[in-house]
Amino acid sequence: MRLIDSHCHLNDEAFDGDRAQVLARAKEAGLTRLLVVGSDEATSLGALDLARRHADDGLYCAVGVHPHESRLMGESIPASLQEALSDPRVVAVGETGLDYYYDHSERSVQRDVFARQIAWAISASLPLVVHVRDAFDDAFAILEAEGARRCGGVLHCFSGGPDEAERALELGFYLSFAGPLTYKKNDVLRAVAAAVPLDRILVETDSPYLAPHPLRGKRNEPAHVVLTFKVLAGLRGLDEEELASLIGENGRRLFGW
Ligand SMILES: [Zn+2]
Ligand SMILES: [Zn+2]
Repeated sequence: MRLIDSHCHLNDEAFDGDRAQVLARAKEAGLTRLLVVGSDEATSLGALDLARRHADDGLYCAVGVHPHESRLMGESIPASLQEALSDPRVVAVGETGLDYYYDHSERSVQRDVFARQIAWAISASLPLVVHVRDAFDDAFAILEAEGARRCGGVLHCFSGGPDEAERALELGFYLSFAGPLTYKKNDVLRAVAAAVPLDRILVETDSPYLAPHPLRGKRNEPAHVVLTFKVLAGLRGLDEEELASLIGENGRRLFGW
């Protein structure tokens, strides 16, 4: 079975001690494509460096500024990130978005930095990797106002209900499911995942965070995407090979890798 991890932070220092082994386990688990995602200037450049060095392992990257870090962004996008956008290993802008749960950056700053990155994705013709937590109304308003339909993208680690899923699909976006899909209390999320059109669905780990059941609380890694994937296959009542191949096509269509 060939699988993908549409969102991981393999560039995170949590993997500094054993990144080679983590990559070997991902390969063993059948992962053929991994999207390594940046959160600020340094981690975006780290993601690009990793994607370049491990091109043979199917690594690609997204460069951008996470809502948590948006307060650190100046008036303009760092030149290094602007330059990175033309690298063939860079297949998306992100992660960007809004996080009103943690509020690590002021909301008005989050909105401004999010809007600027949408413009950036449109001009680079790259899809967006969008993080939204407790901020769906504002996030959709900004995506619509900035014309995000033109570049498309994915709502990563989707945490909304059926209405939010509907709005994302109307915008032409994909929904990516992470470890929370496997958590006991998340029946609403499972109902959403059971109904999303099969040509708009992705899976991810968001590792090192959000390890799926039964590894919850431990460090997560790309190989564990299999656990989330199996729950999804059960929900859809689909043969695993068939679902893996559909998800693979979705990743190819969105990221062009
Ligand atoms: Zn995120
Ligand atoms: Zn992430």
